[in-house]
Amino acid sequence: MAKPSPGVVALRKVVDDVYEEARLASLRGEPVGWSSSKFPCELAAAFGLHVVYPENQAAGIAANRNGEMLCQAAEDLGYDNDICGYARISLAYAAGYRVGRKFDPVTKEFIINPASGKPLKGEDGKPIIDETTGKPKKDPKTQTPYEELVNIFDIEKIEDEEEREFRLKALKPIRQNRMPKPDFVLCCNNICNCMTKWYENIARMANIPLVMIDIPYNNDVDVDDSKVRYVRAQFDAAIKQLEKISGRKFDEKKFEEACKNANRTAQAWLKVCDYLQYKPAPMSGFDLFNHMADVVTARARVDAAEAFELLAKDLEENVKTGTSTLPFPEKKRVMFEGIPCWPKLPALFKPLKENGINVTAVVYAPAFGFVYNNLDEMAKAYYKAPNSVSIEQGVAWREGICRANKVDGVLVHYNRSCKPWSGYMAEMQRRFTKDLGVPCAGFDGDQADPRNFNEAQYVTRVQGLMEAMEANDAVKEA
Ligand code: SF4
Repeated sequence: MAKPSPGVVALRKVVDDVYEEARLASLRGEPVGWSSSKFPCELAAAFGLHVVYPENQAAGIAANRNGEMLCQAAEDLGYDNDICGYARISLAYAAGYRVGRKFDPVTKEFIINPASGKPLKGEDGKPIIDETTGKPKKDPKTQTPYEELVNIFDIEKIEDEEEREFRLKALKPIRQNRMPKPDFVLCCNNICNCMTKWYENIARMANIPLVMIDIPYNNDVDVDDSKVRYVRAQFDAAIKQLEKISGRKFDEKKFEEACKNANRTAQAWLKVCDYLQYKPAPMSGFDLFNHMADVVTARARVDAAEAFELLAKDLEENVKTGTSTLPFPEKKRVMFEGIPCWPKLPALFKPLKENGINVTAVVYAPAFGFVYNNLDEMAKAYYKAPNSVSIEQGVAWREGICRANKVDGVLVHYNRSCKPWSGYMAEMQRRFTKDLGVPCAGFDGDQADPRNFNEAQYVTRVQGLMEAMEANDAVKEA
């Protein structure tokens, strides 16, 4: 595996620091908030409050293959299977559910799942076959214990200290399992209205304050003054709530600093996104998906701005040297519409690799590049989220990115979790083909719940898209 570039290393550190600082703050008894990804983080930063992001956490839990377990836990609490998978995972986590490693209570040894692990390879690099089973042997170093659902609130009630500590240690060792409990929640529904109910439920469940910024769906392309006034007034109300939560006064200097950092991060992030315009691209589109979590987690911090500037430099270097983070030659370029199926990333990537398809356009990525010069512009910037703008604006954004990033086709994820996003995609597909002359293919899946993804269907849709892109080229050449 290629060594991560300096920008990637710096971003990993920034995100780790955000979570570790929040965890330590929580242990010290300081309030820690849970925030929706497009809540104006600059407001909380003005109070020096620690904030973490359940959407990123849910994506991480799903990528660690525990999405189904926590989605099911939420369903068992009474939340419908039709609710967004991120919300279900987060609600289950808020109710205390965690994934733990199974162990033998007598020996305290973890019970290894024989189905886990990678094949053991010989000196020739080939898998070693077990003579009795005729199947490849497993490398014991890569094998992991069985997993089970546990509840942290029950564990915390265990009186025996040794037993309690051991059970805490038996939690699956992933960062997402260590996210501190919330003392307040910050919700902005510019992303979707599921968010509102999700955060209201957490606030009620944990009996904590909810700071809500309501940004209604905008039918117009522009954001008029009345809308700006509506949001600005809510910023004022949020500031008053945050003063109570933090026990501090609004610090204008800290706020300005946070805005400066957020703008610097946004500009560096947009630069990173723009590198996908190069042909061949100096990075894999899947890297862009991963870095989105970094923008969400830390965009108002100076170290995030610096790390993204470093990442932009890495990509500039890749362009100069003709290298790329894409681990195969780029034959075709597509826009990937929607959020990836995090539990199925290898399955998602494999057919793209086999066909030489790189993802060079993602509407969701530049949507995190909030750039503004004053509070009115900040209010306007937060109005512009993919799910809260009119279809005309949505089509214009996407077609602009498709043209600039030179795509040959569009791959649409009909994401069962994200209904506000998936609902208008059939009409968008029609417009992309009409306006851009590129083929589109859609597949059914889910960003967090693996039960809604069918690998065989996905593979055939990618093959179909590849054939349609090649046929399109043949027509153009003729
Ligand atoms: S925008 Fe979609 S994926 Fe995100 S929280 Fe809302 S429903 Fe879930």
